[in-house]
Amino acid sequence: METIPGNLNEIQSVIAGKAKLIAISKTKSKEEILKVYDTGFRAFGENKVQELVAKWKELPKDIEWHMVGHLQTNKVKYIAPFVSKIHSVDSLRLLRMINKEGKKNMRVIPCLFQMHIAREESKFGLSMEELLELLSSEDFRNLGNIRMDGVMGMATLINDEKTIIREFKHLKQIFDQIKQKYFDSSPGFIDISMGMSHDYKIALEEGSTMVRIGSAIFGSRKN
Ligand SMILES: *Cc1c(COP(=O)(O)O)cnc(C)c1O
Repeated sequence: METIPGNLNEIQSVIAGKAKLIAISKTKSKEEILKVYDTGFRAFGENKVQELVAKWKELPKDIEWHMVGHLQTNKVKYIAPFVSKIHSVDSLRLLRMINKEGKKNMRVIPCLFQMHIAREESKFGLSMEELLELLSSEDFRNLGNIRMDGVMGMATLINDEKTIIREFKHLKQIFDQIKQKYFDSSPGFIDISMGMSHDYKIALEEGSTMVRIGSAIFGSRKN
């Protein structure tokens, strides 16, 4: 019989230390999350601020919480005190707000640039042009309470391996390019967050260092 800890074990053995696993627990109950927690696993991710805050409040405080969904500037304040990493930075305006809230909380908040690598269907993420503009702005260089750790991207939701491979290769290429040019002296710029339940094996082949897996661990979601 399949169990949540069983699924987790199987996925960990496929990942085999090549990437860090973030268990995406959106829509899942406290009890379901605790089944994973009780195996010693600590890295969870959510895509909605309200749900993230509620779970942070009621679950053990040694959980490392990742924000992987679209983030509105006016909601940054709710997660700034505790969030481990924000995967979904898609504007300088958002980054400025994260910086401001980081300062208020006397901490440096780790972030990733979310890149738009898929076809039209996904609305979120930076284009290469927008990323380069952000990176070269003086404003960006003056943000002392954020730390950029790498990039995140989602491939097109499609059952076509070639497309997915091409999109993941593109993200890896963006990472290599900006690491060399802008983050050469940042030893912590190491994250390529790519790969979900249906495509994480491909992502691992293409150089992912962080996979975000929900339904393959917890079972499918109803909504
Ligand atoms: C839901 C979600 C995931 C995980 O999706 P699964 O298909 O359940 O593995 C990963 N990343 C983001 C940004 C998500 O919203």
